[in-house]
Amino acid sequence: MKYQLSCGDAVPGCSARFEEDSRDRLLELVSAHAREDHGVAEVTPEMLEAIGANIVVSA
Ligand SMILES: [Zn+2]
Repeated sequence: MKYQLSCGDAVPGCSARFEEDSRDRLLELVSAHAREDHGVAEVTPEMLEAIGANIVVSA
């Protein structure tokens, strides 16, 4: 399974894309990206839920 996420789906204009074989790992990467590149001080569970809704899973 591949879990993919385009940050641009949540943040217009951001071209960052992520692909991992673990959903948890993907969310970790996205959290770090949000902190470092979008200045998000703390990624809340609500934010993770919203981000998770954009994850595309492929075989
Ligand atoms: Zn981004």
